[in-house]
Amino acid sequence: MPDCIFCKIVKGEIPSNKLYEDEQVLAFLDIGPLSEGHSLVIPKDHFERFDQCPPDTLAKVIAAANKLAKAVAAATECDGYNVLCNTGRAAGQAVDHVHFHIIPRNQGDGLFDGWPAGEYEPGKAEKVADTIRKNL
Ligand code: 5GP
Ligand code: ZN
Repeated sequence: MPDCIFCKIVKGEIPSNKLYEDEQVLAFLDIGPLSEGHSLVIPKDHFERFDQCPPDTLAKVIAAANKLAKAVAAATECDGYNVLCNTGRAAGQAVDHVHFHIIPRNQGDGLFDGWPAGEYEPGKAEKVADTIRKNL
C-alpha cells in the first residue's frame, strides 16, 4: 500500500528501531511511546483491520508479540503490560495497517486510568450473545 507508513517501514523507506523480524512479521519501537519500550508488532503484508487479517498471518504476529512481550518486560522491568489492537477510528486506530501495541505498565503510571464497566439489564446479555453467535 504505497501511502501506508507501516508498509514504508517494512520496505525500509522510513527508518525504525527494529526489534524483531521474520518472513511475515516486523516489530519496532513506537515513535510516540506511552511508556519506555512501547513496541508495535505488525504483519509485513498490508491488512487494514484485525478482522481482515487472515488467521494464519495473525497467528504469526501473535507468536512474535508473545516472544517480544517477554523481552520488553524483561528489558524495562515493568510491572505489567497491555497488548492492544485498536481497530477503527472509534477505537483509536490512526494507522490503517493492523498492528499490536505492547505497552509496558507500572503501578500508578496513570495510563488508561479507569475502566467504566457497565451492566446488562435482565435478559439483555443473552440477546447480545445470541446476535454475536449468529454473526460468527
Ligand atoms: P494506533 O493509534 O493506530 O493504534 O497507533 C499507531 C501508532 O503508530 C501510534 O502509537 C504512533 O505513535 C505510531 N507511529 C505512527 N507513525 C509512526 C512511525 O513513523 N514510526 C513509528 N515507529 N511509529 C509510528
Ligand atoms: Zn501498510
